[in-house]
Amino acid sequence: MRFVAILALGACAVSAQAPKRLITDAEVKKVHKSTLFIDTHNDVTSRTVTGFDIGKAANDGHTDIVRYRAGGFGAQFFAVYVAANYVEGNRSAHRAMEMIDTVRHDIIGKHPNDFALALTADDVIRAHKQGKIASLVGIEGGHAIEDSPRLLRDFYALGIRYMTLTHSNTNTWAGSSGDLDGRTKGLTPLGKDIVREMNRIGMMVDISHVSDKTFWDALEVSSAPLLASHSSCRSISNIPRNMTDEMIVALAKKGGVVQVNFGCEFLSQKSANTSTFGNPAIREKLAAAMKDFKGTAEERRAKLAEVVKSIGLNTVPATLDDAVAHIDHIVKIAGIDAVGIGADYDGVDCVPVGLEDVSKMPNLTRALLEKGYTAKDIRKIYGENTLRVMRAAEKARK
Ligand SMILES: [Zn+2]
Repeated sequence: MRFVAILALGACAVSAQAPKRLITDAEVKKVHKSTLFIDTHNDVTSRTVTGFDIGKAANDGHTDIVRYRAGGFGAQFFAVYVAANYVEGNRSAHRAMEMIDTVRHDIIGKHPNDFALALTADDVIRAHKQGKIASLVGIEGGHAIEDSPRLLRDFYALGIRYMTLTHSNTNTWAGSSGDLDGRTKGLTPLGKDIVREMNRIGMMVDISHVSDKTFWDALEVSSAPLLASHSSCRSISNIPRNMTDEMIVALAKKGGVVQVNFGCEFLSQKSANTSTFGNPAIREKLAAAMKDFKGTAEERRAKLAEVVKSIGLNTVPATLDDAVAHIDHIVKIAGIDAVGIGADYDGVDCVPVGLEDVSKMPNLTRALLEKGYTAKDIRKIYGENTLRVMRAAEKARK
């Protein structure tokens, strides 16, 4: 990271206010191209499942092939997001199957020259060498397995390589950070068994969205390093979805990685305070308006936008510098091996100025180089750290 880099150059005074290095376009291009850029969370699947064509340049949303190529993507974990309302009537596994199908059929199947299914770290490297975007699949919301370790194993067979233990809802075996009740709950005995089974079959344990207690329980139980697929630092933006310094350090000690979420509220306290995340009054209004809403993810998005407009919510956007500040902070407290990218594109409404969609990743490369990060550092942040956690999960498989 930057201290090492600056010392290597022989500089003697190091401070956060050190002048930015002048970086040429050619250098940005060269360094970016030398990385295998892996993003561990993208929700474009909630669009493709209802017919969005990822192959065409779109003028809305954050993700399509054209923008992926401009962003120099090496690999993407697509989210099999199962909303909490599928719990009612036991439709969660059905929904997960549909979401897996949209990755395999609508994204990879329809665009075989651009995407290739990846099931292992070696697959990721192989796809990248072929000039394709390695495509991986993770379940978001442990309720998807409907309390069945058998379904967990079925989902692994279909390609799922991480499972986020909860979404915003507490399920029968794990507490979530997303509801007041769940925040005090951790893993039940079944929850601990599920984590052990994930280790045994080689599926990464993802602790984004979970309650602090679930995090500590999972850290204790898991024999493989944990992944936080899309979370940032609570000491910078104080929202329950972000991780405390203590959690980040403990996760890193066991070989895990925090994949920084680019949602404005995750990055900036100002953004959080002007959004549903940090303002309980706004959150209650929104919850009341959405209470009995039934519909597809797309319809929900439209309805949400309508309600947000009627409330007059005006979230202050975060910036590229805010994203860099989170990377810097994790490096400072937990080391260069503990940080990655899990941007949450098409899963968050507000994106930072300078990181508006998947095409903007070279801006981040420039900002990191300006800060004094070396090409080697950036390769770790962008992909090598994630590949290390993947390999550890593969090794834990029995
Ligand atoms: Zn999420």
